Amino acid sequence: MQDDINSLTDAEIELYARQLVLPGWDETVQAKLLAAHIAIIGIGGLGMPVLAYLAGAGVGHITLIEADRVDITNLHRQHMPQQADIGDTKLDVARRFIETRFPNCQLTCHAEMLTKDNAAHLLNGVTICVDCTDSLVARQMIARYSVEHAISHIFAGAVRHEGQISVFAPHNEAYPDSPCFGCLFPETASYAQAPNCAQAGISGPVVGMLGTMQANETLKLLTGIGTPLIGKLLLVDAAQARFDTINTKRQPDCKICSTNLAD
Ligand SMILES: [Zn+2]
Repeated sequence: MQDDINSLTDAEIELYARQLVLPGWDETVQAKLLAAHIAIIGIGGLGMPVLAYLAGAGVGHITLIEADRVDITNLHRQHMPQQADIGDTKLDVARRFIETRFPNCQLTCHAEMLTKDNAAHLLNGVTICVDCTDSLVARQMIARYSVEHAISHIFAGAVRHEGQISVFAPHNEAYPDSPCFGCLFPETASYAQAPNCAQAGISGPVVGMLGTMQANETLKLLTGIGTPLIGKLLLVDAAQARFDTINTKRQPDCKICSTNLAD
């Protein structure tokens, strides 16, 4: 029997025991996580660690958007599928993984690509978009939706032994002049020619590390603990074990946020 909305059950207190003793992470914070609804777009090398850690931390409702099936070339970096799962949809694999470990996490699964036309329907009620796609076009769409709906966009990308991660929240008044994705990566003629993992290669640990960091940034926003990567771009060079953070700024001529950002 729960006393009030913030009370956790005995089972929840046991499940989350090791994070409930973290400084600043009390039962009220945990209740906020249980009430949260976030979306993960792309359930691959980035999305799988994001999903595992957010469901594990107790995020109550997660929308998954992914149209692909598991391929043998995915297994070196995607930890949820087994060999027997090759050919299954990534959504089914992810759902089985989460239902086995965290059956109380509510999953809403959409086996389709995010498009301009379905975004409002698929992302309805979501307060954070975790962008785990590998397509610049999809990232632009997520950026546009996030700006228009004043929700946070947690971006990461990885190729070869390198990666980058940032949190875009130009609506967040605590971070004036912070950019959206389009401010940093404006659409250009060479946009479609950016190398993907199939062409350039990708290190399994590197994409896993970036996905894990996206989960961490999401938890920072949900718990209020720490300082999120808003207005900053973290560059990772795993081959040299180098981490550099650069400050970023809103661009007044940005095609996404200069016209959509509410005053
Ligand atoms: Zn912008």
